[in-house]
Amino acid sequence: MSKISCTSIQRPKWHLIHSGYKSRHYGKQYILGLLAALITPVTLTSNAHAAGELNIYSHRQPFLIKPFIEAYTAKTGTKINIVYASKGLAQRLKAEGARSPADIVLTVDIGRLQVYADKGLLAPVASPVLAANVPAHLRDPKGRWFGFSTRARVIAVSTQAEDADQITRYEDLAAPKWRGRICTRPGSHVYNRALVASFIHAVGVEKTEAWAKGLVDNLARRPQGNDRAQVKAIYEGVCDITLINNYYIGKLKNSNDDTHRKWAATVKLIFPNQGDRGTHVNISGGGVAKHSKRKAEATRFLEFLTKAKAQALYGSINFEYPVNSSVEVPAELKSMGTFTADIVPIARIAELSPDAQKVINRVKW
Ligand code: FE
Repeated sequence: MSKISCTSIQRPKWHLIHSGYKSRHYGKQYILGLLAALITPVTLTSNAHAAGELNIYSHRQPFLIKPFIEAYTAKTGTKINIVYASKGLAQRLKAEGARSPADIVLTVDIGRLQVYADKGLLAPVASPVLAANVPAHLRDPKGRWFGFSTRARVIAVSTQAEDADQITRYEDLAAPKWRGRICTRPGSHVYNRALVASFIHAVGVEKTEAWAKGLVDNLARRPQGNDRAQVKAIYEGVCDITLINNYYIGKLKNSNDDTHRKWAATVKLIFPNQGDRGTHVNISGGGVAKHSKRKAEATRFLEFLTKAKAQALYGSINFEYPVNSSVEVPAELKSMGTFTADIVPIARIAELSPDAQKVINRVKW
């Protein structure tokens, strides 16, 4: 029974709670958001573990999760409740402890998954289905988290910049010839930190730092904004080279907003390092909550996410790649280019993350 009094309420088949606070800083807005997240369990009732029901804590946005939930509910009859928050869910899960109603955690980026694993918030799962469907390098050796889709960190260049065609490797971004021509989001964002970690794995700290310094020296402006904002900057002529996750191009191209489609049309993608270690990829993933009372059902849901139907959804909804090699890459994704991915164990990226952050701090990215 939750500390917060629970009232039984009518729920739709999948229930959404949007805590929706996005501040990067631990300011007033963040604290208020965190409080909101801590208070919201009222909607997960004391009956939330009635037969055929699962509770998901999700960092993934509701529109990205809903199609999976609907497909699973249609197949199994299991009702699924979602708690969504862009931040603060790990703290909430920890605060709830053994009373937590959470069965499953879903998030993106190994950097965030590892936070849950490190805080002891995930239960180890031994599932032959997950072991067969998720390649070993995309899951936790201890079975606490699994990747369900991959996303490639690619180089996007202006279609107007003919010389940018010479770029074939991440390493090239450090060459002095690109001085003042590159835009990126801050280095400490998990997407860039993971890329730096993959560099450390490949070439060591010293060479990684020299590369990161060269990249920072080439920036056209202070690192700022998200991945989409970099494409916008290219559209506006601020710079003509950037690093983004591939799916943003899919989203922008297919946006209802005419402006977004114009941004997307001004760039082309380069899948780096095809002659050597491959393009850096990260995962969206999840695991079973440590204190779930329905671990078998929660595991079945994770297994469902790795099977053909759900794997295809990752491509069609969010332009992410299936992890299950027996599932075909959707045409829309193929049209962005086919590529060889860096197959460094994603757990190694998590392990090297603190070293990567130190490099990022030292070069002031
Ligand atoms: Fe993203």
